[in-house]
Amino acid sequence: MSYRFPDSPLFYRRLDRAFRCARAGEGSYLIDEKGLRYLDASGGAMVANLGHSLEALGRALAEAARCGYVNGTQFTNPWAEALAAELAQRVPEPLRYSYFLASGSEAVEAAVKLARQYWWERGRRGKWKVVSRDPSYHGNTLAALSLSGREHYRRIYGPLLTDFPRIPAPDPYRRPDGPGTTGEALEEEIVRQGPESVAAFIAEPILGSSGGAVVPSAAYYERVVETCRRHDVLFIADEILCGMGRTGRWFACEHYGFAPDILVLGKGLNGGVVPLSAVVATREIVETLARGSGAFVHAQTYSHTPAICAAGLATVRHLEEHRLVERAAELEDPFLGALDALRASALVGDVRGKGLLAAVELVADRETKAPLPRARRAAERLAERAFERGLVVWPAVGHADGGNGDLVMLAPPLTVSEGEIAEIARLLAAALEDLETELAAAG
Ligand code: PLP
Repeated sequence: MSYRFPDSPLFYRRLDRAFRCARAGEGSYLIDEKGLRYLDASGGAMVANLGHSLEALGRALAEAARCGYVNGTQFTNPWAEALAAELAQRVPEPLRYSYFLASGSEAVEAAVKLARQYWWERGRRGKWKVVSRDPSYHGNTLAALSLSGREHYRRIYGPLLTDFPRIPAPDPYRRPDGPGTTGEALEEEIVRQGPESVAAFIAEPILGSSGGAVVPSAAYYERVVETCRRHDVLFIADEILCGMGRTGRWFACEHYGFAPDILVLGKGLNGGVVPLSAVVATREIVETLARGSGAFVHAQTYSHTPAICAAGLATVRHLEEHRLVERAAELEDPFLGALDALRASALVGDVRGKGLLAAVELVADRETKAPLPRARRAAERLAERAFERGLVVWPAVGHADGGNGDLVMLAPPLTVSEGEIAEIARLLAAALEDLETELAAAG
């Protein structure tokens, strides 16, 4: 059996390459049908926070399946109630109310609609624009993509996208004093747009794949949060990737001591076995809807359904029981320390991150920080060389100037051992050597 287009009727994520078939998982490893093992250093797409093949999740899903499908307009259910209660205990105040959906993109769309409806209920109906950052990634559905500063995803779909304002994202590596890094850009943009037209600002508190694990300064968020408050602009924190313990706190905003008005969760919320995302809002926002229309004018068939919430509940309890959030914080030094040794390669310009989230940025020249030309496909090639050695990493491109900019993301399961961290660094160093040879041969 060949796993590639056009031999199989599966519409693959890539039509120009063959795939190996993963059959099983074990802790930090995925195992293919031939029995080959792959050390999953990115948790797939920064998702598998609990590791692979978790019996607790299987049991939780089987129990919820006994109830089957339950529509959120007709009933509530114990799994949705318990998951909301678990999250309410952990999110920073005044966040409180959780709305469950399936994918991260759906949750971003719902968060934007919630921000809009909040201002509409308050009679401030000119407020609809959402400011986002460049680079950024908030999802692939049309509004989420409209908010995303990721040119190679947007190019073909330009006519379908809404023209939201975007400001430069913090880039302490390349632009340490730029208005994006200091936070000044938000004030300027809100004033340019007119505060009466701006409903919200959306940002990942610690950047995921779009910027490459960028950790903005505390001063940045002090300024940005104050700017939002002063102009009556809601802060939507997209913690789909950086939330749920990934950076060593339950939520990345906790590193900075602020609570957003709306928090969006996904990926690590669900243990990787079913799609689950959440929009968590403050009492003030939900009460405003309750006093006004009496409902959030938004719904999807799988909102609040038992199986997805059961997976989320089992995930939160597993994180708690096994102290995995604390573990992500404790492993930050050994993890980033092991990756730091990759700077021995002339291709590595920067290594950065927080908790168990990291990026290794590739450059053509370490002095000037000039990115490699996109045509060289350095990030993809590095991921391919690593894969051949049994290591899974996540390539990301375009962050330096919208076109160029290569990095690989690392986000191993929060259960990763120190031995596995050393192995990740060893295999990635070997893959970097392979890449250097390959790029030199290509000239
Ligand atoms: N927001 C961020 C920060 C993400 O990293 C992603 C996915 O990578 C999304 C939103 C979209 O989530 P999904 O792919 O589940 O729709």
